[in-house]
Amino acid sequence: KKLLLERNRGGDLSHDDYKPFYVSVKRKPEIQAARLKLPVCGEEQVIMEAIRNNTVVIICGETGSGKTTQVPQFLYEAGFSHPDSVNPGLIGVTQPRRVAAVSMASRVSHELNVTDEVSYQIRYDTTTSKNTRIKFMTDGVLLRELAADFLLTKYSVLIIDEAHERNLNTDILIGVISRVLKLRANLSKQDREKIKPLRVVIMSATLRVTDFTQNKSLFDNPPPVIKVDARQYPVSIHFNKRTPEVDYVDEAYKKIGKIHKRLPPGGILVFLTGQQEIVNLCKKLRQRFPTLPKRASKIDVAKEKASIEAESRIETVSARNEDVEAEEIELGDSADQIEDFELPDSDEEDDSDDELGFYGEDDVPNEEEDTDAPLHVLPLYSLLPTDAQMRVFEDPPEGTRLCIVATNVAETSVTIPGIRYVVDAGKVKERQYNLGTGIQSFDVDWTSKASADQRAGRAGRTGPGHCYRLYSSAVFDNYFPQFSVPEINRMPIEGVILSMKSMYIDNVVNFPFPTPPPKPNLIKAEKILTHLGAIDRDQKRITDLGRSMATFPIIPKFAKMLIIGQQHGCLPFVIAIVSALSVGDPVLRDSDLNDLADEESDSDDENGTTDVKKMELHNIRNESVAEKERRKLTRSKYYQTQMKHAGLDPTSDIIKLLNIVGAYEYAGATQSFCEANFVRPKAMEEIRKLRRQLTNLVVANCDGVDVSIDPKMQPPSTLQLKVLRQILTAGFIDSIAVRKDYIESGGSEGSKFKSTRGVPYRVMWSDEDVFIHPSSVLYHQPAPLFVAYNEQFKSSKVWLKGVTKVEPKWLAKIGKSMCTYGKPLEFPVAKFMNEKKTVKKSWVVPSFGPKGWPLPPVE
Ligand code: ADP
Ligand code: MG
Repeated sequence: KKLLLERNRGGDLSHDDYKPFYVSVKRKPEIQAARLKLPVCGEEQVIMEAIRNNTVVIICGETGSGKTTQVPQFLYEAGFSHPDSVNPGLIGVTQPRRVAAVSMASRVSHELNVTDEVSYQIRYDTTTSKNTRIKFMTDGVLLRELAADFLLTKYSVLIIDEAHERNLNTDILIGVISRVLKLRANLSKQDREKIKPLRVVIMSATLRVTDFTQNKSLFDNPPPVIKVDARQYPVSIHFNKRTPEVDYVDEAYKKIGKIHKRLPPGGILVFLTGQQEIVNLCKKLRQRFPTLPKRASKIDVAKEKASIEAESRIETVSARNEDVEAEEIELGDSADQIEDFELPDSDEEDDSDDELGFYGEDDVPNEEEDTDAPLHVLPLYSLLPTDAQMRVFEDPPEGTRLCIVATNVAETSVTIPGIRYVVDAGKVKERQYNLGTGIQSFDVDWTSKASADQRAGRAGRTGPGHCYRLYSSAVFDNYFPQFSVPEINRMPIEGVILSMKSMYIDNVVNFPFPTPPPKPNLIKAEKILTHLGAIDRDQKRITDLGRSMATFPIIPKFAKMLIIGQQHGCLPFVIAIVSALSVGDPVLRDSDLNDLADEESDSDDENGTTDVKKMELHNIRNESVAEKERRKLTRSKYYQTQMKHAGLDPTSDIIKLLNIVGAYEYAGATQSFCEANFVRPKAMEEIRKLRRQLTNLVVANCDGVDVSIDPKMQPPSTLQLKVLRQILTAGFIDSIAVRKDYIESGGSEGSKFKSTRGVPYRVMWSDEDVFIHPSSVLYHQPAPLFVAYNEQFKSSKVWLKGVTKVEPKWLAKIGKSMCTYGKPLEFPVAKFMNEKKTVKKSWVVPSFGPKGWPLPPVE
């Protein structure tokens, strides 16, 4: 063995060097037995052989075949990451979702029967230590590491998981890694002593990998594709005869009830689109099919009820945070794999809504069965706390049927054991961007055919299964796209471009993206970064400011606010603001949503908008009591002090957000504060956590900065409030809106508007009228000429949210790169002033933005 180690130490990764090196693992017998049944384990030899002989290997295997849990273990056992082996670097595994990174690390650790050798790292949280051998992480984490170490010298092998999802980060990673591979293979002789070649494994749940194999700019030689054949039992597909007009959640509820009452045992997996729907459906199902034995004492019943209520209350409260949800919104892009499996009846439609439409030979329902048998209902979505997520892997209590209500996190990332019935609403919620304007909306839409098939496949893991599609086959045929569009073609990419720039990828336009984004998007992202001062105008290279910005794991404009936030003691406030903006609005309901709802519902009827929206509107209308209650926040002492400084006129929604954070801390960060003021406790906690982490990051990243978290954050002073608004303006410099009448009159203030209600504004990159959202504090204020906004949101109109009043004269300074200055005013000004002043006076009448909006004179 000693001889062998000697040889390994010097050698390259050739077949002979690897073969005899095995790390022994003491798995528990039941674990060992279970993993041997996984299809991937049957291919261990083939997989390891391919990895030894190729720098890049692609593994395709149906969800649940064991890719994520087993392949890292193969590598571990083959000596990768072992300190004595030829390749002592870490085994890195990337996941698109935090949920998966955390749960898979714990699963693999459990299977290997080790304590600290398997770790995870997600944004702001890690378990890595010097003993780490296998590291699960989100792809964002690895992208950030690239900025510090482009050769990824820490790693001997990288597994890029869930590549079929075609997430933005995954795509970028694969592009960058194709370059890293070349560099690691062509090191100087000296470096080769220290840095070993890198192996890359790309894993996909579908066979659609041609973007990786056939793309010549990625890999010189097409990497081998190993197809793992999973045992898949036939799944019968049952389409609804009609697609429900109104409410697919209700339709799902009915279908689940029927399955549960009439069909033989087996878990039910339901696909909906988001947290709110899931929580509502779970609640309804739990009420209808409670898990408690009938003879339970009254006290037990009360206890159970209370605990369910507490759970759903908090969940409902946190459900409002679309931003956070969106950050981890699951994208369904996948799967033509299912064509390998037999799908009987796939074109048949359910004849009547009352029929479940099948009974297989072994499937004769047991008429004797208690029709109200308990149902063990569990939610599954990205924001669910990890321990609650892990409950889906446990066996349901004796005598109950498992029913999981999930987003499409259950589509490929997580495999739930024992599922026999799938109920598929056929919808997916995605953050959509209008690339021209950056306008963002959350759209619930039909998912793709590929992802619907992937969902159906979940029913056939343990035996023949059934998939109930809550839509007709006609809708499926005509409205479902074959595949969903890769994320890179759907979103603004400043953050990614900045990270890429900080990795010295200057020419993003020629970057080997698996699917290159349209050039205009790349150019626009570069433009925004230029305005923020993150890249220089001519060379498009990252600036010092940009480099500092890139060290913060937040979007570039927030990073800029942090960096310039160190003025007049504003940094703690800026940190609080950025944390709150990153987490999203913690307020349960914004005031005046009722107005909005009324306005919107008119146009909704015209456009026949989705049922989801109608449901939401319904909920909104029923919340006026909550609305009144929530105004309590303004009675907080913190609020009052702050308002006094602000001269009693609110000037910014973002400052209001700061107030909420401040008032929460001031009140001792209690749950009761959240309840009394209708803010989401989970969001407030997350903001708090982020504040602490950002504070540490600022201290670590910026020399000489002394900032600490003030547990009782004092309200900002009058001066600080003004500076904060300027900092916000600087961050949102590409998101300035101007009153339309002001532009049209060529810069005269014209009439005064008592409120911003119905006053049209214009933003820089579009010719559409936009309006300040009714939830804004500026809604009832005189309409300012200039505002900076955090987001544009399209519903019946285009709304500006997170609005801050901007003094026009600030723009000439803060937005210098966006100003065009007229000719120097030589006469008569020059006549009366010395030369120096003339030059200064040439700044007098700048115009602002690409359209040359007038700016008032600057002294
Ligand atoms: P793939 O990555 O190919 O989709 P996985 O490696 O995630 O497959 O899963 C392999 C098997 O391990 C599945 O059958 C799944 O049910 C099981 N499994 C995964 N995580 C857990 C867990 N936390 N508890 C119990 N079983 C699990
Ligand atoms: Mg997996």
